[in-house]
Amino acid sequence: MDADIVCVGFGPATAGFLTTLSKQLVNADGTPTVESAIMPGLPPQVLCYERADGIGFGVSGVVTRARALRASFPEIEKAGIPMAAPVGEEKVLYLLDPHGASRRSTTLRLADWCIRTFKFALPFEHHALNLPWTPSFLHKRGGMVLSLGQFMQWAGAQVQNTGTVQIWPGTPVSQALIEENKVVGVRLLDQGVDRKGRPADGFTPGMDIHAALTVVGDGPLGPIGQQLNAHFGWPEGHHLRDWAVGMKFVMDLPADTPLKPGDVLHTFGYPEPEIFGFLYVHPDRVASLGIFVPSWFDNPVRTAYRYLQHWMLHPYLWRYLKGGKLRSWGAKTLGESGRRGEPHLVGDGYARIGEGSGSTNVLTGSGVDEAWATGTQLAEAVLELLKAKKPFTKENLAEAYGKRRRASWVEQEAVVAEKSRDGFQKGVVRGMMGMALAGLTNGRFTLNGEPVPPWKRIPRIEAYCHGRVSPGEIAKLRHECETKGISLHDVLMDKAGWPAIPFDGQLLVSHQDALLMGGKVQAPPGYADHVVFLYPELCEKCGTKICIELCSGQAITPGENGVPNFDREKCVHCGACLWNCAQPLPYDPERGNIAFRAGTGGLHSAEN
Ligand SMILES: Cc1cc2nc3c(=O)[nH]c(=O)nc-3n(C[C@H](O)[C@H](O)[C@H](O)COP(=O)(O)OP(=O)(O)OC[C@H]3O[C@@H](n4cnc5c(N)ncnc54)[C@H](O)[C@@H]3O)c2cc1C
Ligand code: SF4
Ligand code: SF4
Repeated sequence: MDADIVCVGFGPATAGFLTTLSKQLVNADGTPTVESAIMPGLPPQVLCYERADGIGFGVSGVVTRARALRASFPEIEKAGIPMAAPVGEEKVLYLLDPHGASRRSTTLRLADWCIRTFKFALPFEHHALNLPWTPSFLHKRGGMVLSLGQFMQWAGAQVQNTGTVQIWPGTPVSQALIEENKVVGVRLLDQGVDRKGRPADGFTPGMDIHAALTVVGDGPLGPIGQQLNAHFGWPEGHHLRDWAVGMKFVMDLPADTPLKPGDVLHTFGYPEPEIFGFLYVHPDRVASLGIFVPSWFDNPVRTAYRYLQHWMLHPYLWRYLKGGKLRSWGAKTLGESGRRGEPHLVGDGYARIGEGSGSTNVLTGSGVDEAWATGTQLAEAVLELLKAKKPFTKENLAEAYGKRRRASWVEQEAVVAEKSRDGFQKGVVRGMMGMALAGLTNGRFTLNGEPVPPWKRIPRIEAYCHGRVSPGEIAKLRHECETKGISLHDVLMDKAGWPAIPFDGQLLVSHQDALLMGGKVQAPPGYADHVVFLYPELCEKCGTKICIELCSGQAITPGENGVPNFDREKCVHCGACLWNCAQPLPYDPERGNIAFRAGTGGLHSAEN
């Protein structure tokens, strides 16, 4: 099939692109402003393929300054977007450990001791210090609290109402079509195949869509972005080494909650010092809350689900959450390399936008607005080239899109943020100081620390648990867990002194129950596994097996001969296994032994 423009993924970046483009493809009298090359007389034919079963099935608890969103929708506050609220009170909290189970450095212990000793003179309550002052770069004043799912559904409807663009959810793109270093379109995923991708009943090969321009907005883990990175390489000095997995609940707050729509809480310090948390309040007593587990957290059993529950049970938060009810949950990876993770933005026949193009700002903790802005910049560039009848060559796209992006606030702020988090490579305290320094000096001063791929940092479980759980005990527990086909992390956390989670069947539910609640994870039959262990021999010799320990959906479990099993039905497509793998590929040490390919299914909720 032929199109003029084909887009991969419908996240905020592509939504920004299509919103800007679709408004300018036809004149008021219905005639095209520019003509399609494949259907002369009509406006350009624009297709967008989204992997998830519905528009807006991603995960992102969103508080945003909404600068780029407002530029596209000046009346956004009055648009009636469900779950949207203007930002109200913002707090940044340092959570102390009420149980003594977390791992805190000597410096942090000393700081905790000082805070507890002088708490009578500090804004301290329920084991939390409410930072009396926070720098402006952390604030979202004048912005909005959104549900990304609800916002994306609304934005998708606006785009489709123009009648100039087609969006196809439930349609993963399996690869970019590359001919002599030129991207000439995309191939959709094969259907009617077995788990290994071999033709089975009802086999339908993925359709090829040829287009003059392929817009790649498939997020931080997108297979098309990964394919282009592998094919075209990286700009000098750029790499993707910093990540975080975000896990999130959407919940009904108790009826008597004192929290108000627009309230924003950000936390650090607990359940482990490296883990950040967020709580945003929507209208009608609904809240989005969750944690980020970063790549520089050197724990080989970094289970986000259990950590999230301990975070919720922190006395400062639990008084707000107790009695509430889980509505939906999910997990998703966040690319945290920022500008240093920027790939080649353009090439012959393609352009990259959004988080996969390095747009997320790691200093301000903002990705939606930036992704949207890069999409609008590309749309303006594309309209300029179409009107000038210039082809989508690397040079023309660099001139029209690359220059717009370099001149924008996204770039200026990305430069400030670029090295702001490097300090975390050498510890949390240094990391926080580095962020403050970078933010307050506009990036002129930072604390250094060379980011390394997670596999270089991840210690063996025995080393991490040294002094808490003996190697003999670990071996025994490992054997028991392997026999049961489960991960080790729960028993290790119990052993390390973490209290049991008091399940209440409403908000604190088991990981399995969360997967089942409301049919939130789905995997249609007839598609290949999208998580693949590339070299089983590497898994066999892998002592860490972190893919099992961190899997957000309990989809990866111990398997025969040390090679894990993957269960597509439980996978929430968070992508954490991709970047956390403990074994580098022999021919590319920047990548691990897991391939994260195009796949269907995953979360089935647009509340996230
Ligand atoms: C838990 C969490 C909380 C966050 N909180 C905030 C916040 O408060 N504020 C903020 O500004 N940002 C936040 N972010 C970051 C923000 O969500 C991202 O920066 C933003 O969504 C990036 O937009 P994008 O369009 O580039 O990519 P994505 O949102 O990742 O969208 C990419 C889309 O491409 C689709 N796709 C992928 N592969 C394929 C394929 N092969 N074929 C077809 N479609 C494909 C995906 O399904 C997805 O819909 C958060 C992120 C997470 C994970
Ligand atoms: S996928 Fe990676 S982390 Fe998992 S067992 Fe294999 S080598 Fe180890
Ligand atoms: S298998 Fe799926 S749910 Fe598990 S870590 Fe990988 S992407 Fe996430």
